Amino acid sequence: MAESNAYQNALTQFDKAVAHLNLKRGIAETLRHPKRELTVNFPVKMDNGEVKLYTGYRVHHNTALGPTKGGIRYHQDVSLDEVRALAMWMTWKCSLMGLPYGGAKGGVIVDPKTLSLNELEALTRRYATEISILMNPQGDVPAPDVGTNGQIMAWIMDTYSMHNGFTLPAVVTGKPVEIGGSAGRLEATGRGVMVTARDAMQRLNMPVEGATAAVQGFGNVGSVAARTAHDMGMKVIAVTDVSGGVHNPNGLDIPALVSHLAATRSVAGFPGADSITNDELLTLKVDVLIPAALENQITSANAHKVQCKVLAEGANGPTTPEADNILNDRGIFIIPDILCNGGGVVVSYFEWVQDLQAFFWDEDEINKQLERHVTKAFAQVMLAAEKHKVDNRTAAQVLAIQRVADVTLLRGIYP
Ligand code: NAD
Repeated sequence: MAESNAYQNALTQFDKAVAHLNLKRGIAETLRHPKRELTVNFPVKMDNGEVKLYTGYRVHHNTALGPTKGGIRYHQDVSLDEVRALAMWMTWKCSLMGLPYGGAKGGVIVDPKTLSLNELEALTRRYATEISILMNPQGDVPAPDVGTNGQIMAWIMDTYSMHNGFTLPAVVTGKPVEIGGSAGRLEATGRGVMVTARDAMQRLNMPVEGATAAVQGFGNVGSVAARTAHDMGMKVIAVTDVSGGVHNPNGLDIPALVSHLAATRSVAGFPGADSITNDELLTLKVDVLIPAALENQITSANAHKVQCKVLAEGANGPTTPEADNILNDRGIFIIPDILCNGGGVVVSYFEWVQDLQAFFWDEDEINKQLERHVTKAFAQVMLAAEKHKVDNRTAAQVLAIQRVADVTLLRGIYP
């Protein structure tokens, strides 16, 4: 199977972790497979009157810990295998973060940048309707991922609420705060990434002030991680997005870069910086490298050229198992995705709890609780890595899988 198949990679990681656990075969087999998978083909009326057919998915990987949680991706390369992989990683992430959630993911094969706002809304409302046989506040709660945002979550919430005849904000997280979103949710993933990066640097006795960073992807996760790194006194020397990249060895002015992005829709062409490609960014000599775009960016083809000390996986699945082996052999400290970007789902959980209680917390409280969850998970992964004598990713998965296995046994096998 190709190194670029995310689901195959998720299974390889799973098998590696399970080898360190004493699971009954039937339990391991159960956890290895998605519980249910939905494929939907649905028509959307375009602005020119034409009707176009789109394909989307929603996969529930595991429900042992509770309702499933996981984002919705709009991207032209979405596939069932990619959604399966992302759903499986959500199961382990929610477990590792100590949340009462199973894992899910959804996606539509579409490049959202090619749609008008009307078309995007129509596609979203129809997809939400199609997956509403699985989605509900008690059973399956989506959130944003690549290509989706707060506005899209607002349309999903509204569509679901219209079908029920009353407002049900807890059906989706990552909503605008005006309609039941949580303070700090927009920033949560990027903040969590930098909490783990800081913990890693402290563990490695690296000073945070003045440390260099490079960030691939400047969307929700990458831009907030870069801004947080900048606010922590780090020097972000390179950033890329889908249309190009910028590099300044003295450090980029990240707030100005955010304004440049808002004005031009790309980081490319930012004044006072050289241009840089994605491949070049990934192999820059930096203290912290933050992939925050898509899967399979660090592979056997470039892992031996990666020069960071800490690899903070803002994205899900950015490193293939083959690359993992190379990086681990070279002593690069990997903060695995399910730990590094887990801050997002932690605050999504807070949003869901606030919606269910119709009682809202302030941002200081959210950030304090976010840091508490992420720091605790980081410390647990370090202990597990020492105990089992394994790399950080395997340690994180060992902990996460063990918890889901324990709960599966406690609940028993129905009937
Ligand atoms: P986003 O759509 O907001 O941003 C994606 C960014 O990646 C954009 O800047 C885009 O230009 C860039 N990009 C896309 N293709 C690229 C390429 N080939 N090369 C370089 N850059 C490219 O998405 P996001 O929400 O920031 O998600 C990014 C990653 O983080 C994904 O792996 C996602 O699954 C993961 N993640 C997101 C969240 C969240 O809360 N949004 C939580 C956990 C993990």
